[in-house]
This record gives sequence, C-alpha cells and structure tokens, in this order.
Amino acid sequence: MFAVILYHGVDSGGRWDRAMTAVDQEYVLSRARFEQHLDYLARRSVPVCSLAECRTASFSESDGALVPAVLTFDDGDVSCYTTTAPILERFGFRGEFFVVSEWIDRAGFLTRTQLCELAARGHRIQSHSRTHPLLTELDTAAIDEEVMLSKRELEAMVGARVEYFSIPNGAYDARVLDAARRAGYVGVLNSVAGYNHPSRADFLLRRFSARSYTGVGEIAEICERPRYTAVRVACIRTTLSAIKYVLGDRYDPLRARLIAHKGRQ
Ligand SMILES: [Zn+2]
Repeated sequence: MFAVILYHGVDSGGRWDRAMTAVDQEYVLSRARFEQHLDYLARRSVPVCSLAECRTASFSESDGALVPAVLTFDDGDVSCYTTTAPILERFGFRGEFFVVSEWIDRAGFLTRTQLCELAARGHRIQSHSRTHPLLTELDTAAIDEEVMLSKRELEAMVGARVEYFSIPNGAYDARVLDAARRAGYVGVLNSVAGYNHPSRADFLLRRFSARSYTGVGEIAEICERPRYTAVRVACIRTTLSAIKYVLGDRYDPLRARLIAHKGRQ
C-alpha cells in the first residue's frame, strides 16, 4: 500500500505573479507548514518514493508498518522551483511535478530552463494536460490533444519519459482514461482521497489533497494509521455525496463562497 499526497504551490511570503482565486489559495501551503510536513516524514523515517518505485516495490503491510508516501505537486507554478524543490532537497526528498505544458514560461509559472533543471536534480516531470481544461466537457479529439500532446511536449523539453497524468480539476470519464492509455501513460492520478495498492496495478491512482490548513497530524495519520484514515475518508466521501445530492447545482457556488469567507478570516 502507498499514499500519494497532492500539493500545489508553497508560499514563501513573496508576491504571486499570477491571479489567485480563493480556491487557488485554499491549496497553497505556507512554507512553514510544508516544512513541518517534510520534517515529520524525515524524523519518522517514512519512505518517500517516486511513483515508479511505489508501483513496483512491495512494502510491509503489517500492523505498525509506515505507509510509504509519494509527494506530488500540480500546476507547475514557479514556487515549485523557488521554494518547494529546495526544501524537498534539504530533506533528501524528490517530488513529482505535474505541469501544464502551455503554461510553461508564463508569468508565475515554471520556465523551460527551470523545468529542465528540476529534472536534472532528480525530480520527475509529469503531465497535468496542455491547458488545464475540464476534460469531460471536451470532445474525444480535444481530449487526445490535451493528454497526448502535453506528454510529447514535456518529453521533448526535459528529454525524459513522462509516465503519469494528473487530471485537471479531478474531472474525468472513460474517454479520458482511454486517451491516457493510448498515449502510453503508466497511470493517471485523480484527487479522490485514498490509498493505492501496487498488487492491484490500478491505472487510476488516488491522492490525499493537502490544503492550506492541513496539519502535520493529518499527514501522520495517513502514514501511521491507514485503517483509521481509510474509514475516515470513506465517511467524508459519503457525507459529501449526500450534501451534493441535496444541494444539486447550488453545491459548487456555495463551496466557493465558503472558501472565500474562510480566506478572509
Ligand atoms: Zn490543476
């Protein structure tokens, strides 16, 4: 069993060179909080692995065994280079950076040179689509373009294989998974919380999302109490589905308002 943790940007107090919505802000961790997460992983000797290692390794699942973690980062904003990677390296870790190929060299995002440098320093570069659309709203040809071309473009830039795809906004259907298979990806990552099992060789992998308020205790529970965590996330999923069912179309606007309110507090 292994856990994939999903991060986005890490805030070191500087100015963001891109527009940040309240939802974007919810996923940005402060530098101090991110360091607390990594400090816990290092102190507790949690195995921090690459996706490739986790898919092929067999880890002990006996009681008390620590669940290995993969650290993934979506969107490819410039904080990956300026803040995240140096902190990871200080702890001896490497990350999986999921990049939107059309956003490279835009203000606030990684440049091509920074991307290549991250790869040369041992981080893995993966795809997060070409333009970050809602893939379920596209026709099949457009999905292919997002999934396949981003892989080709990123591989040409970094000179290494891009084996994993993370789904923008978590929106996918069977056509998206088909496109990813045809493009030659080894796996696709979504943002549904849960563990992954190498023995099952699932194509679709789950991830635990870290948000601005995710404390180190939650990371510790993921790595040390997998049974408890699996039940906890299943309960949250059931409750959320019930709320979405009751609220229908009112769910997304209400959630956005709640996040904006929280951000102002
Ligand atoms: Zn994204």
